[in-house]
Order: sequence, then structure tokens, then C-alpha cells
Amino acid sequence: MPQKSRASLRATPPGAITLACPFYKFNPKTYQPCARLKLSKISYVKQHLVRAHIVPPHCPRCFEVFSTLLERDAHLRRTEEEHCEVRPGTVEGITEATKEKLSQRSDQSVDEAEQWRDIWKIIFDEPPPHCPYIDQDLPEEINLYNDYLFSEVPKRVSSSTERRELVQRTLEEVAREWKHLWRQGKVSAI
Ligand SMILES: [Zn+2]
Ligand SMILES: [Zn+2]
Repeated sequence: MPQKSRASLRATPPGAITLACPFYKFNPKTYQPCARLKLSKISYVKQHLVRAHIVPPHCPRCFEVFSTLLERDAHLRRTEEEHCEVRPGTVEGITEATKEKLSQRSDQSVDEAEQWRDIWKIIFDEPPPHCPYIDQDLPEEINLYNDYLFSEVPKRVSSSTERRELVQRTLEEVAREWKHLWRQGKVSAI
């Protein structure tokens, strides 16, 4: 049988993939339930972000999170005289400013993956992953394992964006090759 070219390994059959929630790709451990969504269009990704990832009410000084705005305001009032401790930090989620940017129409002159990476850049400071999809052919725990590697390894290897992208692309390439072997029945333990 002729050896398949690298290019053909890259091709993923249509219909077997879904766009990922960017928060899941950013932190698969925390946002694993988002991996079960079927986001077939960029507009669904944006809709999901605004519905599920709005930043919770929090104190901008100490970053304590509250379940309601009333509770947060009570905290701010209580600390008017005696301020809470200013701590470095952040609360993950979509802010009003981010929401405003997301409401703008995506650039239709670039492909879907690039539009997804543009969304990522609005939300995170980290470089976006190369692959914005979740492969629905694979079991959820395999995807979680892959996405966990893709999100953790580049961060731990280097602080240089270029190197991180190289590590990420290499991991993705290896994962595609692994999937190819799996498809051919050469990985039979699953
Ligand atoms: Zn999500
Ligand atoms: Zn506070």
C-alpha cells in the first residue's frame, strides 16, 4: 500500500468535527463540559461565549467572586472606608468590552479557522491553538488528553511565542499521525 502523504493525514473528514469553545481549548480541565457542544458555525461559538462565559460579578480590587451584583455592591460599599486588599489577579470570562467586540461581524474574507482564532485573540493574551476544532471521531477522553497536552506543553516548554507555536504544531501533527494509525487498527487498546 502506498505511503500516505503528510498532506492527506492533515485532512479531516467533513462532518466529523465541530468548532471548539475557546475556553475549553484554553483550559480543558476546567471547561470539559464545553467539549460536548456542537458548534457548527462561528456565530454559534460567539453565542455560546456570551451565554455561558460572561464574567461573574467580582471585586476589581481583590477579585473575590460573588453570586449576584447586589452582593458584589455590598462588598464594595463595605470596603469604601476600609478597602479590601488589592491583589493581582483576573477573573476568567467575557467582560462587557469583550462582548462588544464579539458582537462585531467576523471577517468573512478569512476562513472559519482564522475567524475562530480572531475570537481567541479578543479573549486571551496567549497565542491561539492552530486547530480550533474538536474531533468527534475520537472518544471524549482522548480529545481531552490531546487538548490538555496542546494547552499545557507549549506553556511549559517556552515563553517565546514562536517556539510555543512550533511545539503546538508538532504535537498536533503527531496526534494526527496517531489518529491515522488508530483508524487503520494499529492502535487496538482502545
Ligand atoms: Zn464554553
Ligand atoms: Zn474586594
